[in-house]
Amino acid sequence: MARRRRSALPRRPDTSNYGGLIEMRRCRATGTFVGLYDTVKADMDQDTPYATVCETHGQNAGHNTLSRARSSMAFPEWCEDCHPKLYK
Ligand SMILES: [Zn+2]
Repeated sequence: MARRRRSALPRRPDTSNYGGLIEMRRCRATGTFVGLYDTVKADMDQDTPYATVCETHGQNAGHNTLSRARSSMAFPEWCEDCHPKLYK
């Protein structure tokens, strides 16, 4: 079970103290911010080197490669709160 991040911000989060953050992007499909993290630097409980985090809902998913992580940022079906918005 991965650690959940506390965040529910309508605006771009202040990421200056987000350890391990590689990239933060707004998902066009859902309007939520999705962060891409180095799981080791971010001290996340994931067995993959990278993870994407829905900053709005606090859910995350692990990825083995940076390219897979990046492509999942645009389509966060791994967040169960965003999932319905992608398939409506
Ligand atoms: Zn979400």
